[in-house]
Amino acid sequence: QAESGWRWDKSVCRFCGTGCGIMVATKEGKIVAVKGDPAAPVNRGLNCIKGYFNAKIMYGADRLTQPLLRTNDKGEFDKNGKFRPISWERAFDEMEKNIKRALKESGPEGVGVFASGQYTIMEGCAAQKMMKGGFRSNAIDPNARHCMASAVVGFYQTFGIDEPAGCYDDIELTDTIVTWGANMAEMHPILWSRVSDRKLTAPERVKVINLSTYTHRGSDLSDTEIIFSPSTDLAIFNYIAREIVYNHPEAIDWDFVNKYIVFASQPVNIGYGMRRSDEKSIKEGKYSALEMETVGKEMKTIVSAKEAPSLEPFGYKEGDVMEHKPAGLKHWEISFEEYKKFLAPYTLDYVAKISKGNPDESLESYKAKLQELANLYIEKDRKVVSFWTMGMNQHIRGTWVNTLAYNIHFLLGKQSKPGSGAFSLTGQPSACGTAREVGTFTHRLPADMMTANPKHRQVVENVWKIPEGTLNPVGNQHIMKIFRDIEDGVVKFAWVNVCNIFHTTANANHWIKAAREMDNFIVCSDAYPGISAKVADLILPSAMIYEKWGGYGNAERRTQLWKQQVLPVGQAMSDTWQWVELSKRFTVKDAWGEYTLRGGQKLESMIDKAKAMGYTEDTTMFEILFGNERAKKFSANDPVGEGYDDTESKGDSRNVLGSDGKPWKGYGFNIHKYLFEEYAYFGRGKAHDLADFDTYHRVRGLKWPVVDGKETQWRFNAKYDPYARKENSGEFAFYGTLAKALQQGDLRGVTDTTAKGLKNKAKIFARPYMDPPEMPDTAYPLWMCTGRVLEHWHSGTMTMRVPELYRAVPEALCFMRSEDAQKYGLKQGDLAWVESRRGKVKARVETRGRNKTPKGLIYVPFFDEKVFINKVCLDATCPLSGETDYKKCAVKIYKA
Ligand code: SF4
Repeated sequence: QAESGWRWDKSVCRFCGTGCGIMVATKEGKIVAVKGDPAAPVNRGLNCIKGYFNAKIMYGADRLTQPLLRTNDKGEFDKNGKFRPISWERAFDEMEKNIKRALKESGPEGVGVFASGQYTIMEGCAAQKMMKGGFRSNAIDPNARHCMASAVVGFYQTFGIDEPAGCYDDIELTDTIVTWGANMAEMHPILWSRVSDRKLTAPERVKVINLSTYTHRGSDLSDTEIIFSPSTDLAIFNYIAREIVYNHPEAIDWDFVNKYIVFASQPVNIGYGMRRSDEKSIKEGKYSALEMETVGKEMKTIVSAKEAPSLEPFGYKEGDVMEHKPAGLKHWEISFEEYKKFLAPYTLDYVAKISKGNPDESLESYKAKLQELANLYIEKDRKVVSFWTMGMNQHIRGTWVNTLAYNIHFLLGKQSKPGSGAFSLTGQPSACGTAREVGTFTHRLPADMMTANPKHRQVVENVWKIPEGTLNPVGNQHIMKIFRDIEDGVVKFAWVNVCNIFHTTANANHWIKAAREMDNFIVCSDAYPGISAKVADLILPSAMIYEKWGGYGNAERRTQLWKQQVLPVGQAMSDTWQWVELSKRFTVKDAWGEYTLRGGQKLESMIDKAKAMGYTEDTTMFEILFGNERAKKFSANDPVGEGYDDTESKGDSRNVLGSDGKPWKGYGFNIHKYLFEEYAYFGRGKAHDLADFDTYHRVRGLKWPVVDGKETQWRFNAKYDPYARKENSGEFAFYGTLAKALQQGDLRGVTDTTAKGLKNKAKIFARPYMDPPEMPDTAYPLWMCTGRVLEHWHSGTMTMRVPELYRAVPEALCFMRSEDAQKYGLKQGDLAWVESRRGKVKARVETRGRNKTPKGLIYVPFFDEKVFINKVCLDATCPLSGETDYKKCAVKIYKA
């Protein structure tokens, strides 16, 4: 009776990379309930607490329902004006005007987009087409840069192809789960429920080891918890490898290593990405004293006692001045003997001494734990899965540490096998599907293709039906670069899409100040007013997950699609619609003229080439990118396919006006089907095969590559992966060939494994422990680490509006040891200032609760905009991936 009139349909949860299936109930045009989908293989009917509240995020009291522009009392745009409602048409007018100005003054580099790992696949396709094909700008990069870019570069360098080999079934098939910098209990709760089930089913056999810099809920189930000092995971990985190579050589799977592995090294003096204030800015007091230098330029450090032994094989000793160089240096092949020599310093004594993270733990107890960990990996016939997330990715040496994880599995031959493998998890629901597979990263194109590669650009230009030479070969405007370009006045138009980047970026005040003070126009599309909306000049109301058609790709390569269930509230519209409508405002002559880029490179005019293709100067980007023949087929009034409730395209009772001021007729699922099919085309036959749009609406997702209708569980293993079988190289084939493409233009330092007889081989890297750029000292004596909590998603704009979730965790607390609190004159419940060299926030001291930090370290989650901890974080990045290190900086704390 209670469910009378409800219509249930399958959908997906939007709150983490696990990718749980959910059932959504609608009644009278509203989402009224959600529940776990019993048919979903990921979660088998369960959801976590965030998942169960997907329905309640939709209708918060302050949902954005109409475009808002900063205006003066006369209704004119004013950067310091108040937000006032405007029409969609006016919103597109302002965007058009400001994009045209940005193109004129800065060229394509002046138009920037903060994209997202929460984009649906179709939103990512639309944004990528319009940015890279329409505006010829590579200044688009997802917030996934802050999330798993280090894992991506780790995959490229190790395998020559992106994304994990294994799948979630590994959890039920393994004997050992090792979590490295991953609080799965709170961040991937449903996967953790599967881990718990596995552990409790065979408690004697199954071991769970948790490595972290503080005690969290993942420790509750663990047999052993290893608390290490920030950044020293590199040393621990190398210790395990040393233990294998020196003390248990019999454990090395020589057959695997000889057939499928090469050993590699790379210069270690590649600095890190960070800016420092230029002299002029400091004198003007314009920006804070830290950041303003491009990667590695004139950066010097002195080799510390702590890192000296690990740098000795590279020719450095304590006290040496290390002159850092920009990243992008190629690596080279080394012999096993050279690798063995590199490992020599990582003795148990040395590694235990530098990595022990809990001052209260004895060295002997800690050493015993490290030994136990190594022994579990080494034990013959013991299957091991290593899981990791942000603890390893958000790391100044994020790329290095990702590659070190594979080393151990390779040496032991415990990779790409059921129940064994190194498995990088993702945080966002479509970090894999959209940021990586669609290729919304600045340097990427669909299906692992690269903007720097001329052949790849040509493939994409052909499919998109745009002139050869349209795509800009000069790129790498990653997120931090877009921020720096806003600060430098190069980016004059920036659009925040499906993320809250001004909240979630480190050293946030610095970049907010730049955005507000420089000559630019910032747009933010969102469902609720978060910090990015407050920074913006124009706010656009976006549709939420069940108000639009969509698709996500989760952490186990599973692609899942869903249908629109209800109309968006007010005048909110999907981000796909926003991009497609914007494309109607730009013609060939507006966007495809000649440009000179900052580095002096010329982008030739495409106008004549466009005419030769049958377009005119006045043909719009809509007609070219979204309205070509294939688009027309899918944009026809008759829905393609059967059985879809094509709500969006059946007309829109909200009387929303399109960018041309006329009532919007809608192109509903047609455009989504077109975008999805066009994107899927790129990967077919290239080891990224997807099924078709209609199939995904029938099944609960499929793990790519999907060949002959069959998904792939373990990649690179010939028993399971048709592409590995095709290589005919034996039991395994690490067939990634991207290395070759990267060598031609991308500065990621990957050698060509297809040449030199190294085909089908993966790499073991020799990469040392090095100190992070900022460590506690007398002025800032504590480590500070950030992260999430179970109840809230990212910056909390959605989950803080769900009363149950808000009441559960209403504010971000500063978790710290009571001894430390006492030392700094604080006690449980006190308000304290947490201050770094970049800024300070007030947070309430919590000496109990779910996180127990070791002495000398505090933990403050980032979801709460009232406790804006990202003001405090250091925005230094891994020089190879550009990912920011949120996991450690130096702070002081005192009573507020
Ligand atoms: Fe959603 Fe992740 Fe929870 Fe699953 S584990 S219900 S995907 S938040």
